[in-house]
Amino acid sequence: MFEELSARFEDAVKGLRGQAKISDTNVEDALKQVRRALLGADVSLEVVREFVEEVRQKAVGAEVVRGVTPDQKFVQVVHQQLVEVMGGDNAPMAEAEDSPTVVLMAGLQGAGKTTATAKLGLHLKDQGQRPLMVAADVYRPAAIDQLRTLGEQIGVDVFSLGDDVKPEEIAAAGLAKAREEGFDTLLVDTAGRLQIDTEMMEEMVRIRSAVEPDEVLLVVDSMIGQEAAELTRAFHDKVGITGSVLTKLDGDSRGGAALSIRKVSGQPIKFIGTGEKVEALQPFHPERMASRILG
Ligand code: GDP
Repeated sequence: MFEELSARFEDAVKGLRGQAKISDTNVEDALKQVRRALLGADVSLEVVREFVEEVRQKAVGAEVVRGVTPDQKFVQVVHQQLVEVMGGDNAPMAEAEDSPTVVLMAGLQGAGKTTATAKLGLHLKDQGQRPLMVAADVYRPAAIDQLRTLGEQIGVDVFSLGDDVKPEEIAAAGLAKAREEGFDTLLVDTAGRLQIDTEMMEEMVRIRSAVEPDEVLLVVDSMIGQEAAELTRAFHDKVGITGSVLTKLDGDSRGGAALSIRKVSGQPIKFIGTGEKVEALQPFHPERMASRILG
């Protein structure tokens, strides 16, 4: 994960080793390399600009405490900035006062939505909750079976009415069942398309009206880089989301999506998917991610 970025950051710091302090002049080269590293990682240009400026301001003239060398100080500042750009603290999942908590899973086809729904189901089950997954993706022929199979595998119930019923009716019926039978969380897997279109948005809005969710999570493939951030912004403008799940980070050596989403879209990353297996889901912690990037 993010190997390229890690290596380039390491190079950027080298020039500051052995310096007495961080000055306007000796920090220029390191900043240039940070800028190049971020652009190479496919981080959005507006994020790169702000990032480099912030690092410059915080690093130059910063008091270098005894025992902390300028290169170490620079790494600290970059770390701090990485955490900030990714949203600071972990954004926890919403919890409804009266159960069930209703979560809509949205996203483009192939982003990993159905997989993420099952991963979240398992995550909640592991926390002692009783989730119900609803198969409301009625267009992709295999989606309902896929969710059923995953549900059996992880021991989480799946509700479906086949593919002849409108998604908003399926979602509403799922909610009624969850209320009657005392499920804690309702996870609604919705249909994705190849790109954002009016029909998909209108359908999401209808489902949203039918179940009034506490969370609308946009599932985004991290491999699309900074486009992930634009997608999140566009989706939020049209449908309204509460956060995202960034998938396929295990295959992402660059990091542009993770570093751009929060700033560009204003929406927090709540979970990350790090593999095809149902266990491969983690809450997103900016602090841990920054440490991972900087090694
Ligand atoms: P959907 O169309 O959005 O519901 O996408 P799926 O859940 O069917 O996932 C599409 C493909 O991506 C499948 O082959 C999944 O196994 C794979 N996938 C999903 N999440 C991850 C992940 O975090 N890492 C990796 N490597 N593959 C993933």
